[in-house]
Amino acid sequence: METTRRTYNSVVCVKQVPDTNQITGDAMKPDGTINRAALPAIFNPEDRCALEAALAVRDACGGTVSVVTMGLPSAAAILHESLFCGADAAYLVTDRRAAASDTLATSYILSRAVAKLNPDLVFCGRQAIDGDTAQVGPQIAEKLGFALVTYVQALEVRDGFAFATRNIGDGTEKVRTSLPALFTVSAAFGELRPFNARRIMKYKASEPIVWNLDDIGADISRCGKAGSPTNVAKVQSVILAGGDYRAFEPTEAGVRELVGSLVKDHTLG
Ligand SMILES: Cc1cc2nc3c(=O)[nH]c(=O)nc-3n(C[C@H](O)[C@H](O)[C@H](O)COP(=O)(O)OP(=O)(O)OC[C@H]3O[C@@H](n4cnc5c(N)ncnc54)[C@H](O)[C@@H]3O)c2cc1C
Repeated sequence: METTRRTYNSVVCVKQVPDTNQITGDAMKPDGTINRAALPAIFNPEDRCALEAALAVRDACGGTVSVVTMGLPSAAAILHESLFCGADAAYLVTDRRAAASDTLATSYILSRAVAKLNPDLVFCGRQAIDGDTAQVGPQIAEKLGFALVTYVQALEVRDGFAFATRNIGDGTEKVRTSLPALFTVSAAFGELRPFNARRIMKYKASEPIVWNLDDIGADISRCGKAGSPTNVAKVQSVILAGGDYRAFEPTEAGVRELVGSLVKDHTLG
């Protein structure tokens, strides 16, 4: 008897970010926030890896890859790049009522968009290089009730399960999860494949599918400023001076000295 091979549909959350590698004198405003206009906008680096992870699953198992971004209409640039590399569909969630969203509101809005696409797998970058919180992926998983696997550097999907290798700093960990699940993908996964010339011709004049907050059935009280409990009390530039760096020997005596100095400056105890 012939059995039908299972295919998997993925959604990748991609964010357009200011290129923080290009920081110059006018890149910060006097209040310490980023002057986005002074920096080129790029595809968040680890979201490129997340897209590659989704495309690799589609290569191996079939299915579809959709990309979603929440942002200004100009964020469509990274949706086009995603289509040029291999994504099947692109969605832009844009709405003035989403302005000033913190990570809680951002993840709520994205979770509504993802739910509408009903995927088996969701991919996020580990972290965005501007906000840098690494909160949005886990928060989307929590809101959708999906399993969560973070720091993914390799992934295989078969028989309705995903087998992920997680980067845990000084080693790796292998985990198996049922689906649906959300994966945050680290740079260790590897680079996104290049643009495909045929796909550039096909998608260069295309427009993403645009959704506002009503289209995704969002509760407006959970979006934008109203849905954002975070208050930024103060923004401070931390400059580490050479004197802040101290090396300790990897010996018992070195560890004792390190702990002693941490207790002395009240970092511990
Ligand atoms: C009080 C407050 C007000 C803010 N107001 C604004 C504002 O007015 N305008 C503004 O642009 N930012 C604003 N921000 C920043 C905004 O909250 C964050 O940029 C956003 O929540 C994402 O958090 P992050 O950058 O730390 O992402 P992380 O949690 O580090 O991102 C992890 C991953 O989640 C996914 N992801 C994150 N954001 C998006 C997105 N927008 N679309 C698709 N995928 C995404 C990506 O895959 C990314 O790699 C505000 C933040 C605070 C605290």
